[in-house]
Amino acid sequence: PQPGEVILQAVDVTRKFGGLVANNNMSLDVRAGEILALIGPNGAGKSTMFNQLSGVDTPTSGDVFFRGQSVAGKESREIAGLGMSRTFQHVKLLASMTVLENVAIGAHLRGDKGVISAAWRLDRAQEASLLKEAARQIERVGLGELMFEQAGNLALGQQRILEIARALCADPCLLLLDEPAAGLRFKEKQALGELLRKLRNEGMATLIVEHDMDFVMGLADRVVVMEFGEKIAEGLPEEVQQNPAVLEAYLGG
Ligand code: ADP
Ligand code: MG
Repeated sequence: PQPGEVILQAVDVTRKFGGLVANNNMSLDVRAGEILALIGPNGAGKSTMFNQLSGVDTPTSGDVFFRGQSVAGKESREIAGLGMSRTFQHVKLLASMTVLENVAIGAHLRGDKGVISAAWRLDRAQEASLLKEAARQIERVGLGELMFEQAGNLALGQQRILEIARALCADPCLLLLDEPAAGLRFKEKQALGELLRKLRNEGMATLIVEHDMDFVMGLADRVVVMEFGEKIAEGLPEEVQQNPAVLEAYLGG
C-alpha cells in the first residue's frame, strides 16, 4: 500500500451480546504506515472491537474492510494472507522449546484450526523455509541473540516481542496488538515502543489496543478513545489527552 492510504476501515460496527451493546456504531480508519491507538477504560469495548477488526468475531451490524475487502467472518488464515496479522493469546509459548521453534510453530499454526495435525505435516523443504522466515523475523525484532534460548527463560517483555515476531512471519502490512504493554516494566515498555517505531519506519501500520494512556502518548500517530462501547474522541495524542470527555472517562472510571 501507498503511505497514508486507508488500509483498514470499520464502518458503523455494532456488536451486541444479548442485551449488552459492546460496540455501538464504531467507525475508524487505519492508514498505511501509522500507529493508531484504540484506548479507553476497562470494559469500554476495545477487545470486542479488536475481534471485529481482525475477523475473529462478526459484527451484529456494520462492516470491516481491509484493503478494500470485507473481512467480517473470514478465516484467520485468509485474513493473514491479505496482510493483516494479530498476536494470538491462545497460541501459548512452549516454555521448553527455543525461541526459534516457538516463532516457527506459531507462524505455521497461525489461524489454523487443525493445530496438531498441521504441525506434523511438513516436508523438509517446508520446514526449512519456515525456520528461515522465523529466524529472519527474530533478527528483525532484535531477539537474534536469544534464538536458541528456551522461551521459558525469557523475561515477559521479551516474550511479548517473541509474539510479535510470530505475527510478523506472515509478512503483514498491518499488525494488531491487544494490550502489548500490559504487565511490563518501564524498561520493557520502552523497548516495545522502540520496536514498534522501528517497524513503522519500515512502513508497518499498527493498531494497538491499550488501557495505559501513557504508553501510547509518545508512540501513536493518532488515538481513538472509547467508552461504553462508543467512540468519544479521536485525534492527535496531545489533543485527546486534553479532551474533557476523555479526562472524565479516565478519572471517572
Ligand atoms: P475492554 O477490552 O475495553 O476492556 P471488552 O471488549 O472486553 O472491553 O468488553 C466490553 C463489554 O462486552 C464488557 O461489558 C464485557 O463484559 C462484554 N463482553 C465482551 N465479550 C463478551 C462475550 N463474548 N459475551 C458477553 N459479553 C461480552
Ligand atoms: Mg480488553
